Amino acid sequence: MKNVIWSFMVKRKVFTAKDVVKDLEGTKYKHLGKAFIRNKVKDFIKQQLYKATITAVSEGIFALREYATDWEKYIEKKKCAVCNREYVPFEEKQMFCSNACKKEYYKLYHQSRRHRGKTGRKFQKWQKWEEQKLIEVFKSDNYRYSRQKAAQLSKELGRSEEAIKERLKIIRRRLKGVTL
Ligand SMILES: [Zn+2]
Repeated sequence: MKNVIWSFMVKRKVFTAKDVVKDLEGTKYKHLGKAFIRNKVKDFIKQQLYKATITAVSEGIFALREYATDWEKYIEKKKCAVCNREYVPFEEKQMFCSNACKKEYYKLYHQSRRHRGKTGRKFQKWQKWEEQKLIEVFKSDNYRYSRQKAAQLSKELGRSEEAIKERLKIIRRRLKGVTL
């Protein structure tokens, strides 16, 4: 398994633990389960950091030693949850391209909460950025509902898990017949 992990790292050059876990889930090791794979990948990363074959170039982002200086060229770009622009993440969990977009996100988030509080309305129209976030989170699983993901997103969006489940259904329906 270590050889396979290493081969994916070599292929990517710059990666997060999550990237490599995703790669391994497309192999014969899939049946071992995500938690097991994640631990193996994390252990392997630690070992390689110790041996200095890889370097931590940013928070949660690693590069093969040879690519550490110009790592930004090799990393998989992310799409900003607010403006949808591609950007180079500086840490694994980053969701926005800039501080401006981050501010915008929380402004919208608090606005929608306040609004709901005032009107007492249970159902709030889904904003475009909320849908984009939903798509970003569930896309890798082909929009299949997962409680764990929904719980996390529920905190971020201030919507119930049930509402997220319903919205996912709508998105799946909308995408029916469209090849992804
Ligand atoms: Zn942005």
